Amino acid sequence: MTDSVVTRFAPSPTGFLHIGGARTALFNWLYAKKHGGKMLLRIEDTDRERSTEAAIGAILDGLKWLELGWDGEVIYQFSRAARHREVAEQLLADGKAYRCYATAEELTAMREKARAEGRTRLYDGLWRDRDPATAPSDVKPTIRLRAPQTGETVIEDQVQGRVVWQNENLDDLVLLRGDGNPTYMLAVVVDDHDMGVTHVIRGDDHLINAARQKQIYDAMGWALPNMSHIPLIHGPDGSKLSKRHGALGVDAYRAMGYLPAALRNYLVRLGWSHGDQEIFSTEEMIAAFDLATVGRAAARFDFAKLENLNGHYIRHSDDQSLVKMFEDVLDHVPGRSDLKAKLNDTTRTQLLKAMPSLKERAKTLIELIDGAYFIFADRPLELDPKAAALLTPENRKLIGQLHSALENVETWSAANAEEALRAFAEENSLKLGAVAQPLRAALTGRSTSPGIFEVLDVLGRQESLGRLSDQAKD
Ligand code: GLU
Repeated sequence: MTDSVVTRFAPSPTGFLHIGGARTALFNWLYAKKHGGKMLLRIEDTDRERSTEAAIGAILDGLKWLELGWDGEVIYQFSRAARHREVAEQLLADGKAYRCYATAEELTAMREKARAEGRTRLYDGLWRDRDPATAPSDVKPTIRLRAPQTGETVIEDQVQGRVVWQNENLDDLVLLRGDGNPTYMLAVVVDDHDMGVTHVIRGDDHLINAARQKQIYDAMGWALPNMSHIPLIHGPDGSKLSKRHGALGVDAYRAMGYLPAALRNYLVRLGWSHGDQEIFSTEEMIAAFDLATVGRAAARFDFAKLENLNGHYIRHSDDQSLVKMFEDVLDHVPGRSDLKAKLNDTTRTQLLKAMPSLKERAKTLIELIDGAYFIFADRPLELDPKAAALLTPENRKLIGQLHSALENVETWSAANAEEALRAFAEENSLKLGAVAQPLRAALTGRSTSPGIFEVLDVLGRQESLGRLSDQAKD
């Protein structure tokens, strides 16, 4: 099946899966899914000094959390070094590459000269045509590609269009270092070829690499995959994305309480559009996604938009799944092990009951946790300043009376509690609001919460009456 689509996501594990990488993965995933193809995952761990196990773990976790599954086994680039060397040797044997014995000093001098003369071609071809018999014995040679010196290297990019480089500006790139290690440029080409990659979709910071890589493809007589270089994500002001603007690892978004579906939806719209549609189910995204409609301009990251979208996804999630997400996110939010310890069948049932109104008010799972504070609060409740201000001596007296009124409710439910409170308010010529606010303060320790009858219902008779007697004064 040579014509089926194979994409790949090829992160370097020198840092965590950042938001730009996640979008690249998403685009690769969508494109593969749309065409009934595969997305492979290659960890580019050739930089041994900077690659870490922790980063690999974070990348795999991040992709799993985003539900961007890859096909087949993870491929580790470093494990393929022997194959990369083999290709370099083959190019050498074919005369398409040569050994370069230039010393560090010679290379520095060449670079300085080129820069001084305003040339981008930094290596001057010193060993391109030299007789290896004249090679110094104390220099470990690199292997360089015998790149074309005239003509053009052209990439027909699905996003960038036709991009042309003059070969005279590109120097003979190093394929194999003096220590025998392959360069990134060689490794990427050999791996993409061997993995059967048909479409390369990556950040446009790799566009220049595409030209160098094309020269290697040409030298090997391999077909270049279809190329798409997508614009990077910038900050809201158009500058390079900073931490403050969202240049964070995917794990940070998880800890901030974003849902994977919301983040995917947000990311797909960064640099890609489909009419005015903002909200996409996964199926819709797959059906509508196309590389040709990815824009060329840098996308701007906008936290407020992401938050609104997340609120939408929270409101439209079913209550049971939200209880599960509530529980899961606690493992990723520092300092919330207290809540985790309080999750049991009773509190889960309470959460589920309160969820329809909690989810209306929460833009993130963190806000959801915050809104559910009253369920988990220990008696006697700590009052926030607004709640404390509401509980004046007079209102504490009222709480005592409300305690008596509610004690008489036979079957505990939101409707029966409401009936009792309305009757109480009427008998005492009070407005319901004048009763509800102090009641809310006593029951939740805050001045805002879901509807007060619902709070009573969720807390149940015993806990509600207990909290009221804690705050009541005769
Ligand atoms: N490893 C490169 C990176 O993380 C990507 C290389 C590629 O996609 O060709 O930026």
